[in-house]
Amino acid sequence: MDEAIADIFESLRANALDADELDRILRRASRRRADGRRVAKKQVLPYFLNARTQRTAAWESWGTTPDLEERFVAALQMKPRRTASGVATITVITKPQPCSGNCIFCPNDVRMPKSYLHNEPACQRAERQCFDPYLQAAARLQALQAMGHAIDKVELIVLGGSWTDYGTAYRRWFITELFACLNASEEQRADEARKRAARYEGLGITGDVDAIAERARPAQEAVTAGDLAYNDAVAALYGPGTPWEQAAAFQEAGWDDLQAAQEANETAAHRVVGLVVETRPDAIDPPALAELRRLGCTKVQLGIQSLDPGVLAANGRPIPVDAIGRALGLCRLFGFKTHVHFMVNLLEGTPEADIRGFGQLVSDEHFDPDEVKLYPCALVEGTALMEQYRIGRWRPYSEEELIEVLCAAMQAAPPYLRVSRMIRDISSCDIVAGNKKTNLRQMVEQTLRETGAPVQEIRFREVGSEPLDPASLILDEISYQTAVTREHFLQWVTPEGRIAGFLRLSLPEPAALTEWDGALPVGPGEAMIREVHIYGIATELDRPGTSAQHHGLGKRLVERACAIAREAGFAAMNVISAVGTREYYRKLGFRDNGLYQQRPL
Ligand code: SF4
Repeated sequence: MDEAIADIFESLRANALDADELDRILRRASRRRADGRRVAKKQVLPYFLNARTQRTAAWESWGTTPDLEERFVAALQMKPRRTASGVATITVITKPQPCSGNCIFCPNDVRMPKSYLHNEPACQRAERQCFDPYLQAAARLQALQAMGHAIDKVELIVLGGSWTDYGTAYRRWFITELFACLNASEEQRADEARKRAARYEGLGITGDVDAIAERARPAQEAVTAGDLAYNDAVAALYGPGTPWEQAAAFQEAGWDDLQAAQEANETAAHRVVGLVVETRPDAIDPPALAELRRLGCTKVQLGIQSLDPGVLAANGRPIPVDAIGRALGLCRLFGFKTHVHFMVNLLEGTPEADIRGFGQLVSDEHFDPDEVKLYPCALVEGTALMEQYRIGRWRPYSEEELIEVLCAAMQAAPPYLRVSRMIRDISSCDIVAGNKKTNLRQMVEQTLRETGAPVQEIRFREVGSEPLDPASLILDEISYQTAVTREHFLQWVTPEGRIAGFLRLSLPEPAALTEWDGALPVGPGEAMIREVHIYGIATELDRPGTSAQHHGLGKRLVERACAIAREAGFAAMNVISAVGTREYYRKLGFRDNGLYQQRPL
């Protein structure tokens, strides 16, 4: 392997490394191996990174420079899409917990928090790490680094049923631990991982999936047969009288602990540039949002699924539609980015009604979210939907119907909406009926390209990892009205219409502030920057790259937003900064101010 790495560097110095040359080097290295085994591309980067800390003599013999190293990592990087939106994403899962909802399509896997299945990749990782946030984040950091991704800017996505169903102490502990993990050095993380593994083992909590499956099997069989409720099964497996009760004794943290971890993260090697949690619209009120903000959250994922009261009722979600609008409005006034889940092919839905419903979601001023996960409903064993399927009251859409609905949704999407996903990570073996194609989004986008249909949706237009000339970018401004704010979406676009970055500015309507008088952390005359995002393969902080990042594009968006707010008569600009971006905004003239950072206009 050492020789193969030396050959790759030599080829890089001669500017001769392309995919064919890399392949030739790896085949040559494979032939040199005494055991006859192939040297795979994915093995090279972890070996190289390990040498940096463990085998300095070999490292020095390769004569690396920062520029060569960057090109080496780019050539050997696996799965470049994962950081193509500019940050490394780490998804973590909270422990299994009873859910206060009872939706008929929602999986009942007693090894997981409600709605998740143990076969999903993030869930598998969480289970192996005893759902410990520190251990999950440490394992992901290590894996992403081994794949060659820059991991200095991290978006944390916390999933698992409804966040508000967990106790305050657990919620605070979970987030504190994530920050603590990102603040630690590689050696500290390894040391802490060993200690935690021993601690969980001492309590009788295992990460051995076979043992977990065996223990959960009787309860799972009873739940699947309809003889036991998910909530009761989970309470018996993880509640009082189980080892998890003892674990709960140390799974709590105070606000001081969290604040210390956040302050350390402001200048840490792995900074949190986004923090997302998921909950239900009926769990949103000003105190809940203030707590989320205190935890460092920047985005809220809300399960909406439908705007049709009949469909919501038929699917066990008796949430009034006006409560959904109210929740989205409150999130917006608090400055959060809103990310909703919208499901098509629900019980009593039709393709035509789904197209209409999605159109309403993205055009009605009471909703108009920033991002959508647009899923088809998938039938999973053990759900109440199974019975509806058996008696013929529900059927999955055909592939043609589904693609037609999703294509129509993409065409209805305004230029400030991002459709982040079109499938859940449910393994095809868990889907009894419904879409099993993991490339559904590519199929939809292919259809749209073939028909030449105009699509303004963000992800369809992202520049991704393409090199670009920042001087060629055009600043485009779109303004739209919501029930509680005047929104301005500022986007950098290439001459071909691709999007290289954007900013979301909210100017609150006085009437909305009056309605929530005293309950909001913002006052009259205060505008809010809810999001600034610049695309490109994540490059390390303070190191220029060839992507859209690090060309002052974000700063120019912020300055333009301030000018718009000033012209509209606002006296101050707030920004809902993530903990790891506070330093960036301080350099732009913002001062820490309660739950936000603020700059006078
Ligand atoms: S509220 Fe969410 S997690 Fe709970 S049952 Fe409904 S879909 Fe599942």
